[in-house]
Amino acid sequence: MKEETTSAGKDFIRQIIDADLESGKCSDGIITRFPPEPNGYLHIGHAKSMCLNFGIAAEYSGSCILRFDDTNPVKEDQKFVDSIIKDIRWLGFDSESRLTHASDYFEKFYDCAITLIEHGKAYVDSLSAEEIRELRGTLTEPGKPSPYRERSVAENLDLFARMKAGEFADGEHILRAKIDMASPNINLRDPAIYRIRKITHQRTGDSWCIYPMYDFAHATTDALESITHSLCTLEFEDHRPLYDWVIKNLDLPSEPNQYEFSRLNLAYTITSKRKLATLVEEQKVVGWDDPRMPTIAGMRRRGYPAPAIRDFCGRIGITKKENIIEMGVLENSVREHLNPIAHRVLAVLNPLKVVITNYPEGQEEMLVADNHPMDPEAGQRELPFSREIYVEQNDFMEEAPRKFFRLKPGGEVRLRYAYIIRCDEVIKNAAGEVIELHCSYDPATKSGMPDANRKVKGTIHWVSCDKSLPAEVRLYDRLFSVARPGSGDTDFLEHLNPGSLEVLHGARVEPSVKGISTDVPLQFERNGYFVADSENSSPEQLVINRVITLRDSWLKQEKADRA
Ligand code: ATP
Ligand code: MG
Repeated sequence: MKEETTSAGKDFIRQIIDADLESGKCSDGIITRFPPEPNGYLHIGHAKSMCLNFGIAAEYSGSCILRFDDTNPVKEDQKFVDSIIKDIRWLGFDSESRLTHASDYFEKFYDCAITLIEHGKAYVDSLSAEEIRELRGTLTEPGKPSPYRERSVAENLDLFARMKAGEFADGEHILRAKIDMASPNINLRDPAIYRIRKITHQRTGDSWCIYPMYDFAHATTDALESITHSLCTLEFEDHRPLYDWVIKNLDLPSEPNQYEFSRLNLAYTITSKRKLATLVEEQKVVGWDDPRMPTIAGMRRRGYPAPAIRDFCGRIGITKKENIIEMGVLENSVREHLNPIAHRVLAVLNPLKVVITNYPEGQEEMLVADNHPMDPEAGQRELPFSREIYVEQNDFMEEAPRKFFRLKPGGEVRLRYAYIIRCDEVIKNAAGEVIELHCSYDPATKSGMPDANRKVKGTIHWVSCDKSLPAEVRLYDRLFSVARPGSGDTDFLEHLNPGSLEVLHGARVEPSVKGISTDVPLQFERNGYFVADSENSSPEQLVINRVITLRDSWLKQEKADRA
């Protein structure tokens, strides 16, 4: 049963549902649907729609139907169906128990079209697409009727049957709803409801060569499935009168209502399937699941936790106002979910060798490190320490400013979980590049020793040269370098961020990372959150994605953009 709450604080759609329940309008329960077209992978915008539709079904003990909107065989593909089911399940929603396809109803759509023809509400038009466009009028001018508009019911029935039988070529005839060529709403100027398309459909094969148009099929399917609240994005607002017209003029089992909310627009990325498909086809990314893509598959591979994505969708809410959400909002949800669960490890992304000259050659000791600073139950692990270690190149500066508290000639720093070391000598190659540091350690500064708490200003991470594991580390940045890719006259591809992927081939990680599973996020101390790549990482060759940095390095940029 629905919990006893008031509508206060709820979004406008949930308020409408509350009112409908109150008035007894939905006594059989709430039914929503999520209707992706299987012509691409799901993205973060779809996540918003899923959280709304599946979320409402769960909150009101109703149901949400996953309906594949497969009425356009041109671009649709089974591989997209499979990816969509996988992504929905991963996001935490039920993708199987109520799964339908618009193509399940092809017979019914056909019967509905016959009904409209019989009632004088639809006719076969034989103008070309070009001619139809010319007669449609504009926003300021009414349309003009087609010369075929007054065909008799008998003639229309005959032609429509022959369209179905395959007697005509694509585009030779279409079936149009007979509504109002003078309507101020262009969608009502006798919209097409069926067209000829001699293409094999991925489910129905060659059984059909006529296919229903979206608006007609969508309204009819909603009514056939007894959807109570058909929730879609604002661009369908102008289609609602047609949606209502279809339902009013057919005798269907229910009369659903359509409600529109604003789509999710996310800064520095795109949520258009067509554009995402272009990135894949033109190989600007490695595939739909490239970790830089705002697709569910890309975010999963990147290491974004499903609850973080759901949490983000909850935070942005549902309104009718068009806006652009900062990427930082999504990234903060990701950090908030990773911080309590990710075990801390030491990893050096750009290694610089350090020889601890006063540490005995051949000696190794195990130092104890906490897996999580806030969670004692996460336990501890051992870090092998020896004479030769790696530190981060940028933790050393030869000519350091006064406030640089890491390694510099003569300077001291603490090695995390280990000793304080002092930089005694800088070794360079013939080209003058620093290739090695010679340091000395203070044995009394280890945990448990008398000077364990001796303070130095900087602490840096490190790994053992001998025992650390080599890894390829992939650092991702935003896919686009501007907040609104493709704005102005620029092609969105020109706004791609050339630095969106940086591959580090020589990284070293502490030995505990060996064999890590690809769904276990880690925090590399000081470097961010990381996860082994599900496609490329193997026990022989670690390939690791940076999920996200520890802090939002773009915050300043976004503030500047807003100003
Ligand atoms: P297409 O141009 O291929 O139709 P689409 O983005 O509308 O692209 P669909 O597969 O038709 O993709 O979308 C399925 C559902 O997801 C629809 O109900 C749609 O309104 C919703 N949806 C798609 N993009 C967004 C978005 N950016 N924000 C919120 N909802 C979205
Ligand atoms: Mg769509």
